[in-house]
Amino acid sequence: MFRGLRWLDDWRQVMPKFTKRGVPLVRNNETMTEAQFWGMFRQAMRKLTMHWKPGTAYLNTLRRDSQSDNKRQKFEYPCEHCKGWFRRDEIELDHKVECGSLNSWETLATWCERAFIEVDGGWCSLCKNCHDKKTYGRE
Ligand SMILES: [Zn+2]
Repeated sequence: MFRGLRWLDDWRQVMPKFTKRGVPLVRNNETMTEAQFWGMFRQAMRKLTMHWKPGTAYLNTLRRDSQSDNKRQKFEYPCEHCKGWFRRDEIELDHKVECGSLNSWETLATWCERAFIEVDGGWCSLCKNCHDKKTYGRE
């Protein structure tokens, strides 16, 4: 009867949904963009590396008894770049071999291989500030 509408329905079924900014929602049942999908992995993987024991063991070789007045803070950790001392949650482990970007199945494998290393000394202890500068190349 009204063939135009039929055509519109068919078209809607094959067309991807978009965000308000026009990015196609191609992942997770049309609820995530490609970038959000890989962001999900980056977030999850970073969480996993925080519990990676060789990295923690490395940090433990660097720490010293806390000099701060806060009695609940037992140790403090050095930033190997700015030489400041920080709480554990202010310190991040940087990999001497860059893990690279994580935005495809191929880079996911490489990233994990480099992030989850066993060898002590593959890391550098950095405060968040220095780590950001290094990662994003801004001073
Ligand atoms: Zn620093």
